Amino acid sequence: MTERAEKFWLDFRERGMYTERIYERLFELASNPIEIYSFTKAYLENYHSGSTLFDASLSYISKGQFEELLEIALVILKKRENELAQSVIYYAILQFPELMTENLNEVLELYNEKYYNWSITPGRNFEEIQIEKLLAKFLRTDISKIEKQKIFEVLIQTRNLPSIEIAFKYALENNLFESLYPMEDLITHIECVGLTMKENTIVSYCPNIAYHFVFPKNYFSKNEPIWLDNKSEHPTWKFKASTKSFKFGGYLEKDLKNPFYHIITFDIIPEGIKVTNLKMLTLGLHINLLNEQFGPFFYTHDAYGKPSLINNGINYEIKYFDDDEYKEREVAFAQTPSRWRIQDWGMANSRENLFRLGGEPTAIQSPEVLICPNCKGKMDFFMQLDTGGDFFWGTGGICYIYWCDKDKVSGYCFQCT
Ligand SMILES: [Zn+2]
Repeated sequence: MTERAEKFWLDFRERGMYTERIYERLFELASNPIEIYSFTKAYLENYHSGSTLFDASLSYISKGQFEELLEIALVILKKRENELAQSVIYYAILQFPELMTENLNEVLELYNEKYYNWSITPGRNFEEIQIEKLLAKFLRTDISKIEKQKIFEVLIQTRNLPSIEIAFKYALENNLFESLYPMEDLITHIECVGLTMKENTIVSYCPNIAYHFVFPKNYFSKNEPIWLDNKSEHPTWKFKASTKSFKFGGYLEKDLKNPFYHIITFDIIPEGIKVTNLKMLTLGLHINLLNEQFGPFFYTHDAYGKPSLINNGINYEIKYFDDDEYKEREVAFAQTPSRWRIQDWGMANSRENLFRLGGEPTAIQSPEVLICPNCKGKMDFFMQLDTGGDFFWGTGGICYIYWCDKDKVSGYCFQCT
């Protein structure tokens, strides 16, 4: 350990979470990969209770170092339960799923223990041969229903369509989850991994490409102390944006009875986002209305991409309006690096930037894949807005925006705890 890391480690050993400037000092170490790793490794080897400080430190650990931590964690977990070691596994599954393929059997064995969190399941980036083996095991007649359920969860995580089709068909015919509505339940399962059912076929409802919003400096103006919800420290807030920026915020109609907010105008459609036959797309939302009535709400877009609420003849009025000026600004985007392609709301724990365009939604419960009011088909995921800055959803949730390209309809819903 360097002197700075050792000093922090000794102070932390003595005072625990009462260590002065604890997060500031952690972030100081994070600027040096060797220092942060030595602290995190020592933490893992000496403690066992789950810790937000430990979890926060993992975001600064490189892939090579993560591989080493994973080995240590697996050795620990073979002997006894340990929440820190479990954290290493969960974050590895999210951030470096490719590391799982080398330790597949050990990880799957652990997942058969009852204390594992099945919402974060290995499977992504598995190799073809591993997927084939899993599918063959899943179809065997000599394994229990419970084991099959677990393998099913891993199989869907692979996002490998041919295998999922076979597993889905088997699960439906045998009512694998003993559900009253097997079809609907299985669709909910696959919607958690970016897939859904359209016209009796399993397809992706998510763009292949993902971007993170990059906000102007001081957008999150609250002068918070460096703490977990500080909107600057985590790597997902620091991506380098492309030079193109977009108008963001402000109003489309400043009607006090039901203000129509401007979310964003894409005067160029970002690459990989499926919006065809429109040169521009403006997203707008009656935010107060969505917050008061939960929604979902849908908007139809004209030839210029401008939205109007599909109100089915209802003249909505809102109850509450706070007159904070909702300013127009500019935002830009950065293509999401593979490490942060899939983010989990719980594991992000307010540290991470969850303002995303494309990719898969970061659901708080299971994703609610909206149904287009025109064609009645499942819509495609478009983007999500977290709570923060000008936005506040319910008790502090995420707003999800969907798009039907055929009908030029956008749809909005939100989830919170
Ligand atoms: Zn439609």
